[in-house]
Amino acid sequence: MTTPAYTAYVKIAEGCDHRCAFCAIPLIRGRYRSRTLEDIRAEVERLAAAGVKEINLIAQDSTNYGRDLYGAPTLSRLLRMLCQVEGVRWLRILYAYPRFFTDELIETIAAEPKICKYIDLPLQHAHDAVLRSMRRADDRAMIEALLDKIRARIPEAVIRSTFIVGFPGETDAQYQTLRRFLEKQRFDQVGVFTYSQEEGTPAAAMGGQVAEDVMQERYHDLMSLQSKISEETNHSLEGRVLEVLVEGRDEEQENIAYGRSYREAPEVDGQIYIEGDTGSRPGDMVKVRILQGFAYDIVGERVEG
Ligand code: SF4
Repeated sequence: MTTPAYTAYVKIAEGCDHRCAFCAIPLIRGRYRSRTLEDIRAEVERLAAAGVKEINLIAQDSTNYGRDLYGAPTLSRLLRMLCQVEGVRWLRILYAYPRFFTDELIETIAAEPKICKYIDLPLQHAHDAVLRSMRRADDRAMIEALLDKIRARIPEAVIRSTFIVGFPGETDAQYQTLRRFLEKQRFDQVGVFTYSQEEGTPAAAMGGQVAEDVMQERYHDLMSLQSKISEETNHSLEGRVLEVLVEGRDEEQENIAYGRSYREAPEVDGQIYIEGDTGSRPGDMVKVRILQGFAYDIVGERVEG
């Protein structure tokens, strides 16, 4: 993956031990294999020495990190170790499967200033029968308890999730349960996908495949609900000052730069446009007061300090 000089993805493990019915990754990549703590630390040290400020830790399932090598989830230990690396400003954990999101991990994220309070928790659905059929390890009650715990301990946490609509057998009533779940949880960032048949997976052979037009209808309905929620959330940020990692300048207006705060992951989330900024360069970290929040992007102004 090619990334700009100030941000990098670091793979902490390969493969996956889950067997989600819709997913071909375990068939392609095999069982979960963690890299050692020392190996990851050495890579992060090299990246930081080369000027990288934001490290995005990735795996098919980040919260499972270390169970194969060290006999227990070890992500907290890894994070604490990486927080010591000089030059690293932000550590961001992506793809955290809910099952091993431990209390220790929540405490570590809450306590370490360098760890972005950004929780990427792919949940896929919220109806228990669909979750079972998807062969997910968590049910709705466990998911809600985890979300409550995260929010209670890390009030500024931004929670992102992804969902699949149109999984085989998904009824309209089950879809409506998912919709109500999103309405209630008010996630900060959401990705919605229509189910797609992956060759060799159990779901591809299931009965009750949902018609394309029904999937599209559910997709657009969920996206428009989320767009309203995101707009309200971004609107509520107005007046707040956030640290922003500058990523570039507007091509047409020289005095507008853009970048991301801890609230936005690279590539998947929106941007913050910084008005009245003439001096910053990609990779700089600047303070920005939020002026206006829209459904996707945010507009702010540069402030000193
Ligand atoms: S969806 Fe994620 S957790 Fe599930 S099998 Fe695929 S890679 Fe593993």
